[in-house]
Amino acid sequence: MNVLKFGGTSVGSAQNIRKVVEILSVTEKPKIVVLSAMSGVTNLLVSLNQASIDKDSAQITNVLEQLQAKHFEAIEDLFTAENQPETKAQIETFVAALKDIATGGRTLTTYAELVTYGETMLTWMFSKFLDQEQVANVLLNASTFMNVGTVENPNIDSVSESLLPQLEQNPSQLYITQGFVCRDERGSLATLKRGGSDFSATIIAAAVSAAGVQIWTDIDGLHNNDPRYVEGTNPIEHLTYNEAAELAYFGAKILHPQTVAPVIDRDIPVWLKNTFEPSAPGTKISNEYHNRGLKAISAKDGITAIKIKSNRMLGAHGFLRTIFEVFDRHETSIDMITTSEVAISLTIDDTAHLKAIMTELSVIAEVTVEEDHSIICIVGENLIADHESYKAFGILNSIPVRMIAYGGSNNNISLLVPTREKISALQYLNAQLFQLEGAIA
Ligand code: ADP
Ligand code: ASP
Ligand code: MG
Repeated sequence: MNVLKFGGTSVGSAQNIRKVVEILSVTEKPKIVVLSAMSGVTNLLVSLNQASIDKDSAQITNVLEQLQAKHFEAIEDLFTAENQPETKAQIETFVAALKDIATGGRTLTTYAELVTYGETMLTWMFSKFLDQEQVANVLLNASTFMNVGTVENPNIDSVSESLLPQLEQNPSQLYITQGFVCRDERGSLATLKRGGSDFSATIIAAAVSAAGVQIWTDIDGLHNNDPRYVEGTNPIEHLTYNEAAELAYFGAKILHPQTVAPVIDRDIPVWLKNTFEPSAPGTKISNEYHNRGLKAISAKDGITAIKIKSNRMLGAHGFLRTIFEVFDRHETSIDMITTSEVAISLTIDDTAHLKAIMTELSVIAEVTVEEDHSIICIVGENLIADHESYKAFGILNSIPVRMIAYGGSNNNISLLVPTREKISALQYLNAQLFQLEGAIA
């Protein structure tokens, strides 16, 4: 069994959906296909959720019309004149259900119920299109088996227990299901967070002990720098799980931050492939080492730096423990740390409990907070031994670097910079580390 995931752009129009069907016809069977919503649809559903909170009925109507129009446009291209009325009627039923949720009383699951509808609509439409094209397929409802419990540490066994019997009872060479949706520890409908369909694919792959996972998107693999900000980036053919995990966690948008976690221990390889250029090699993520040293750079925004200064730190022990316990009590994880004899600087990305953390820390130390920072992460197995890596530090000449983490792992150098400097920092590092000498502007 293989698991293939197609993202929003890949299923974003009738033309692209046809490309996906073509890829399905030439890839190995059997397979489970995990689909996102059509591109832009989840954003529309997020705004529907906001309109529901605001009780803004004009905006609710406006968003529902856009959602219906987007799906109708695809239907008019994909389906025969004979099949269109029935298919459109089902989309109308979905849109009516969305209206009921958006205008009904809000509950703890209203957000998840609304925003996962894009996947529900698209997979239904996709499966019907396959039926029309006489491609045998079985549509599975992911909310009946994605019992992950916690998103941080998904319970793969529980997913297996629900999914495997469904596969047995509905034998097929081609299953279609929704990404993004899951059930939490209370069994309530939930999401795997934005971009979560990648994570759905690897959770499902782990649950069925798949031979491999293919993540099909709109670019030819994971590039050595963020192509949205840097020109001349290149796809990387091989990454280890550790390299991919670091790059995804530290902002490489092509992968949801937790994507590789379910497959590392099970040693299930993940391929990143381009729907619009299927013959390009893409990126293979596995436990194989092809070449060590510098591989790629990524950046994660929304980082808050906290400096904790206390003279009590001088020669004292137990101070760091006291500080970490504060963060632990507030379930806030720390990404980067640097220390001096009297101060410690650290970063967090979740500021939900920042006020409470500050209140506790202020009792024992002088605390300053700086928001709007980005972590720039330079990644590669045994990067520390790479003779070129020193070139990264020339950045200190031109960009106000707030923190540097070097030596915490052999595979990562992290730099904290103000977000307004992020693009210049990525471009500088690209020129220094990946391009020919003298390329720096
Ligand atoms: P999908 O909708 O298929 O999940 P995403 O938009 O989530 O696709 O991810 C693909 C996009 O990620 C690319 O179009 C690219 O702009 C962006 N991206 C950011 N960093 C990288 C990187 N290092 N390598 C490749 N793509 C990246
Ligand atoms: N449709 C969801 C999102 O836009 C999940 C995904 O595409 O991975 O976040
Ligand atoms: Mg994505």
